[in-house]
Amino acid sequence: MAGQLITQARTPVVDLKAQYAEIKDELAAAVSQALADGRFILGPNVTALETEIAAYCNTRYAVGVASGTDALHLALRALGVGPGDEVITTPFTFIATAEAISYCGALPVFVDIDPLTYNLDAGQIEAKISSRTRAILPVHLYGQPADMTQIMALADKYKLAVVEDCAQAIGAKYNGKPVGSIGNIGALSFFPSKNLGGAGDGGMIVTDDEQTAAAVRRLRAHGSNRKYFHEEIGYNSRLDELQAAIVRVKLGRLEEWNTARRSRAYVYNKLLSEFVQIIPPTLGENRTHVWHQYTIRLKNRDEIKSRLSNMGIDSAIHYPLPIHLQPAYADLGINEGLLPASETAATQVLSLPMYPQLTDGQVERVCHALTDTDF
Ligand SMILES: *Cc1c(COP(=O)(O)O)cnc(C)c1O
Repeated sequence: MAGQLITQARTPVVDLKAQYAEIKDELAAAVSQALADGRFILGPNVTALETEIAAYCNTRYAVGVASGTDALHLALRALGVGPGDEVITTPFTFIATAEAISYCGALPVFVDIDPLTYNLDAGQIEAKISSRTRAILPVHLYGQPADMTQIMALADKYKLAVVEDCAQAIGAKYNGKPVGSIGNIGALSFFPSKNLGGAGDGGMIVTDDEQTAAAVRRLRAHGSNRKYFHEEIGYNSRLDELQAAIVRVKLGRLEEWNTARRSRAYVYNKLLSEFVQIIPPTLGENRTHVWHQYTIRLKNRDEIKSRLSNMGIDSAIHYPLPIHLQPAYADLGINEGLLPASETAATQVLSLPMYPQLTDGQVERVCHALTDTDF
């Protein structure tokens, strides 16, 4: 073996191959059963998953749709958000949150984040509520619930709807309540890398309101309740049967996987706590975090990211440019400097490897690589 380099595998940010290895046989059985069954659109796995997710999120209804983005869009549409309306949200999120508002012809109104939790700074919301405001769209970023007590109090006071973007947070709880069950509607994503992901795109809404659920059911199927009769112009946005079959298998592991994420986060917290240059994630009161991302904060983020990479450790930036500064939203005319906590976070956050199959040894290696560098 002389001359042969022993190369250690890179540590990825998320490892879907490791996840697959754990459930390979169950997935194969579920997929082949769905293929044999032949009911590919709104078949039995979609119906069963809707029942199971509603139970998991403690809501009366769940409706499968084609993606998390569509879940947000159809949720807003079902609530009647349209042209001329304003929806309050965070600029520090994946762009789909804002796009869903724009698809309705409504205006996203950005409120800055709390620099510790990266979620909407609820204390700044009231100042942005106008006569046109129809809804608040908090994002439970990185898997940590937003300040729902304050958000719901404002929604109540001003008669606003609340749509929770739970794309990163299925299984998280606020005051003991699952995310998605607190506002009027919760939007879930089954994008493959999410805590509960399919093998392609998929999403779901959860709600306690029968009419809202019925409206999303209609909108996802061409505005129709009855085949070839259309009450409104809808969309083709159904969750497909094969994805539902796959997601059902993974739903059976979700609690165990979220617990594994939590214990990896605990090890990260412990190992990084002594390094003042690294700001670890901050957990707000009365909530459980499901650690979709383990995101730290550093002044010299870009330099550390490339050093980690040279040591075989991948990391990611969620997100490098807040929505109000994206070219896609240049029309809003929101200048740099107006949402400072989001803008600063965008230059400092770094997401470390985080997935249920990550070993404590890998976490130690990541921390060692991080703390070994002189800041
Ligand atoms: C992933 C994600 C979405 C969109 O979900 P898709 O299923 O990819 O359409 C929306 N919001 C947030 C915060 C997300 O992370």
